[in-house]
Amino acid sequence: MVLGQAIGVLGGNPDRNARYLIRAIDHIARGEKQGLIREWVHGWLGEGRPGRQFLHRLSEHTHPNVRRRYIARMVVSMLFRDPEVGERCFQRYGVTPPYTMLISPTMRCNYCCQGCDASSYERKDDMPPDLFHRALSEAEDMGMNFFIVLGGEPFVYPHLLDVIARHDRSFFQVYTNGSFIDEAMARRLAELGNVAPQVSVNGPPQYTDASRGQGSFDQVMQAMDNLRLAGCVFGFSTLVTRGNLDAICSEEWIDLLIDKGALYGWLFLYMPVGSEPNPSLMPTPEQRNKLRAVMRHYRQTKPILPIDFWNDGTLTGGCIAGGRLYFHVNHRGDVEPCIFCHFATHNINECTLAEALASPFFMTIKESQPFSYNTLRPCPMIDHPQTMWSIIQQHGARPTHDGAEQMFTTLADDMQGYADGVQEIMDEVWDGEDYHDWAARWTAMCGIPPERFEARRQAYEESRGRRRARSNVLGRVHSTPG
Ligand code: SF4
Ligand code: SF4
Repeated sequence: MVLGQAIGVLGGNPDRNARYLIRAIDHIARGEKQGLIREWVHGWLGEGRPGRQFLHRLSEHTHPNVRRRYIARMVVSMLFRDPEVGERCFQRYGVTPPYTMLISPTMRCNYCCQGCDASSYERKDDMPPDLFHRALSEAEDMGMNFFIVLGGEPFVYPHLLDVIARHDRSFFQVYTNGSFIDEAMARRLAELGNVAPQVSVNGPPQYTDASRGQGSFDQVMQAMDNLRLAGCVFGFSTLVTRGNLDAICSEEWIDLLIDKGALYGWLFLYMPVGSEPNPSLMPTPEQRNKLRAVMRHYRQTKPILPIDFWNDGTLTGGCIAGGRLYFHVNHRGDVEPCIFCHFATHNINECTLAEALASPFFMTIKESQPFSYNTLRPCPMIDHPQTMWSIIQQHGARPTHDGAEQMFTTLADDMQGYADGVQEIMDEVWDGEDYHDWAARWTAMCGIPPERFEARRQAYEESRGRRRARSNVLGRVHSTPG
């Protein structure tokens, strides 16, 4: 409530805004972990830092209703969640609640992008609205109130806003191609207040139009203008490939997104999943490192918060799948550990959400996290390629579409080569930059048992030792005269 009031009354004076928010956060932060977040907020909102301008953008362009019903809830739920929420859920269901549930009520889409089979789905494939409502209600009973809606294109699902309106104590991020966001829709979203679209855009016009079709870039820009005018909060979402990474990292591009009104954004590396996986679209390990450095720099210098899904594993204590922080329910009700891992043992047509979250499949994933002490290499699918596959096989999880296993089988060699390249670079970064201390300290606070954390640390040190010894030997061989 304190934070809601502070964010709701933000005005045109950036210094006063910063003081209000800092005071509110000082009031609600509890314990060591929230203390670290508090420290970060103090630094980010310091004089001359980008947080002040970010707050100014928020206060200038966002409807107070949206600030209270979306922004304040987001900050409290994601950064300052009351520990009692987790304890209550654990007593009742035997699991702690993830921070968010991803749910795809439809796989249909009005676009027909390269490599995406969304246009092959029909209306009969949609999730019935009662099931959508039930999944949200069960999640709310467990203590979750943040939901991410994906597809397909969620706005082709005719029940979307009716179901959201029934859950007005929760808040929603909706991933959309933007084509349905005209002025009237933007006004409706501002009235609801608890919905923030994530408008997907794959870079400047030549990249977005090439993958989505001629004119789709202009439609995204128009959707952003409509959202900004109506006072909605919104972000961008970008699929990062080997081809568009440099354009996405450019200063002109991020400045355009800021001008358009995006407050934050999600960057997802291309993953070779789906019906036609193509590893050559994945950014190279060097490019991934460039994305890490550039997005981190923008966060520190510009009034926007881009989140780099893999490289920011450092901010979440590593992999968040399997219900530790998130999971995904697809249009058929299959409960998948991650939006990119299309395997399931449970379906909410046959069980409760809590039963799915407490399943042995999900428990093994959670008990294996973090998959590395170096949380710059968080992923059991692409950074430790056979790890997720062995958990899938151990629990007999079934693929949720044809070909879901290709990443682990026919593409196994490609994935191992990629993972080796990432390790080479990211272990150096982890040891060489300022990551090591704070990221390790943060991971240790993310509910990981100390003995598991220590085992990961030792495994990392041993592997680093072996690599150093090997490169010393190679160095001697190469420097031997003759
Ligand atoms: S907009 Fe998204 S869901 Fe629709 S076809 Fe393109 S990639 Fe698929
Ligand atoms: S499995 Fe990989 S992509 Fe999914 S949450 Fe974990 S680290 Fe991220």
